[in-house]
Amino acid sequence: MGEYPRGVEGIVVVSNRGPFRVSGTGARRKVVRAAGGLVTALLPVLRERGGTWVSAQETDHPLVVEQGDAEPFALAEVTIPRRVRDAFYGPFSNGVLWPLLHSMPATVPLGSAPWEAYDAANRAFADKALAAGGGEGLYWVHDYHLMRVPGMLRERAPGSRIGWFCHIPWPGPDLFSALPWRAEMIEGLLGSDVLGFHTEEYAEQFLACVRRLSDHPVRGDEIDVDGRRVRVVVAPIGVPWDELATIARSPEVERERSRIRQRIDHRAMILGVDRLDYTKGVPARLAAWGRLLARRPTLRERAVLVQVMVPSREAVKAYRDLKNEVDRLVGDINGRYSLTGRVPIHYFYRSMNPTELYAHYRAADVGFVTPLRDGMNLVAHEYCASRVEEDGALVLSEFAGAAHYLRDALIVNPHDVIATADALETALRMPRMDQREHMMALRKQVAALDVHKWAAGYLGRLEG
Ligand code: UDP
Repeated sequence: MGEYPRGVEGIVVVSNRGPFRVSGTGARRKVVRAAGGLVTALLPVLRERGGTWVSAQETDHPLVVEQGDAEPFALAEVTIPRRVRDAFYGPFSNGVLWPLLHSMPATVPLGSAPWEAYDAANRAFADKALAAGGGEGLYWVHDYHLMRVPGMLRERAPGSRIGWFCHIPWPGPDLFSALPWRAEMIEGLLGSDVLGFHTEEYAEQFLACVRRLSDHPVRGDEIDVDGRRVRVVVAPIGVPWDELATIARSPEVERERSRIRQRIDHRAMILGVDRLDYTKGVPARLAAWGRLLARRPTLRERAVLVQVMVPSREAVKAYRDLKNEVDRLVGDINGRYSLTGRVPIHYFYRSMNPTELYAHYRAADVGFVTPLRDGMNLVAHEYCASRVEEDGALVLSEFAGAAHYLRDALIVNPHDVIATADALETALRMPRMDQREHMMALRKQVAALDVHKWAAGYLGRLEG
């Protein structure tokens, strides 16, 4: 890897995380493919067209990929001084931008956020990308960590085609305007030719920010930046439908599914799967389940909630506090509503491998997906993609991007604990025939957002 002959077709993908990561230490250290939809979507594109994937070097050593794993594209790692990298990633990207773009209070005071580190880190990404692209070329920049990069690329390689995609929500101008560097962020993004968002709502809110915070004229979904046309597009991301169907139907997943069903004694299973994050609404979700258990005592015998919470950003205090809150709530509900041999919440604080995860999706009668705010939420898609027998029910927050597309879900306001408990009860009581109709409709809606189509569609608009 690293020796790709670049041509005009080559594409430079720029994202904070790259497609590979190091797993294990010492003799067990190996380079593995990173999990996640972005990698699944973009690896085939890079394999087909060649180019370079630019991402941050995450350890103190460059990633060396074994010769035998040669890929037809290059990897370029950005090295950023430790102190700058830490400030860019933790306090600025995750402490300020993540909550702000999710319309939630910042976990770091805005005034003391390390803007210089964010700008310097973005500069390092842009430098590396320009070196990889050899000047003017095709660049696809990803997400909120890198909002300054398009402008930096435009300045130094003005004839390039540059795209940026927002994997998280975009808030309204009242909220976004709180950011002291709002104008710099908007100008940075407007270096792009195409700006992509998951939903119409986020795209409109972005356009409203441009109207409020810049002098550039906005006409429909286009912005005139000194005679250059910037397009704002709605490009919802999905999951690799065919690949997921293969995993969900595999014999290992089938075996594990039966084991799970036996272990829970064939009770009705409700499933929550989230990264540890305050945007995911886990405390309110647990409260809704507690409410339902209080109201319907027979469910203590008949149903169980399996909640998987994947550790994340534990260096940030808000995340450690959330972990403590969830631990306490799980203890409280289990303490209150357990019967001997019947515990109402099975709580995993770890990640699952794909076999385990898909076996849980297949074992669950109800997918319970209630974020307070979420760009898209792929767990909702994966749950439906796994229901190859076309049964089960999905309860979905109206504040997930997915709710704009999976219209047949039982849509709830996750802040409304009573309404959420009602929707959960409806899902648990849904007759088999209705489940089939519900799930068949959902599966069509999920298949329509296939991630390979997303990548091809976005690139088509970038090049068109
Ligand atoms: N996931 C995982 N291991 C787990 C649980 C979840 O790899 O143990 C994956 C899951 O398959 C999904 C992703 O994590 O693809 C979560 O994506 P989502 O859009 O729901 O939320 P995000 O974490 O990106 O905010």
